[in-house]
Amino acid sequence: MPHDHPMRPILFTDLDDTLFQTMRKIPDPAEQAKAQPGALDRELAPRSFMMARQANLVQWMLAQAETIPVTARGTEELARVCIPFDSYAVTTHGAVILTPQGVADAEWQRHITTALLPYQPRLAALAQHLNTMLADPQACDAALPVEPGWCRMNEEYGIPIYLVMKVRNSEHLEALNRYADWVESTFDLSGFYVHRNGNNVAWLPDCIDKGHAVRFLLARLRAAAPDRPVLGFGDSLTDFSFMQQCDFLALPQRSQLLAALQAVLPGASA
Ligand SMILES: [Mg+2]
Repeated sequence: MPHDHPMRPILFTDLDDTLFQTMRKIPDPAEQAKAQPGALDRELAPRSFMMARQANLVQWMLAQAETIPVTARGTEELARVCIPFDSYAVTTHGAVILTPQGVADAEWQRHITTALLPYQPRLAALAQHLNTMLADPQACDAALPVEPGWCRMNEEYGIPIYLVMKVRNSEHLEALNRYADWVESTFDLSGFYVHRNGNNVAWLPDCIDKGHAVRFLLARLRAAAPDRPVLGFGDSLTDFSFMQQCDFLALPQRSQLLAALQAVLPGASA
């Protein structure tokens, strides 16, 4: 189907843990041997990998649909993804919409920077709160474990967007969750939502949402061609906000979303 065909499907897809993952999350040695680079780290060494079926799925997506990544990755991190996307891209949990030319959509940038203005003092205060706790957890609460960790303010457009925290040793997830619990009980998080997924915890202003960005973009794309089918691929709970706007939803077999479904559907098996 030609690239600009009015029936060409639109496909929104998450990246990490949907199209690729770190080698640690590929348990089968046979799969590891066949894996291809999905994304590079800062030193440009392969860091995330596509299993053979994921790589074949990506080939199909790029050939058959207008494929639009919708990712927590920042714009700079997206540039290190080894998949030749050629349409729009949604980065930093929906804070940025890149046009097919690779520049930030000006209308969306205006909307986001305005919505974030009242958050800036609170983002700074939350960063300070997190750094104080990470510097000496037991001085904050004697019951907290001591585990080296760090937090980072993710920025776009030269302004803070949201905060993420990790522990140095990704095996120590219990400590990470205890830290996040402590923050929830000691900081007023109204207007924020908390995303806990695997080895990181993120605190996001309510206006930073993959679903908001996809709604905006989809309205634009549908205005031009209303009958294009829309597919949504994603693995985690924060992906659901954009996936539920799509005509068809797809999730990986090993995913936070499928686990959530299995927990509530009668007859489902984990
Ligand atoms: Mg994901």
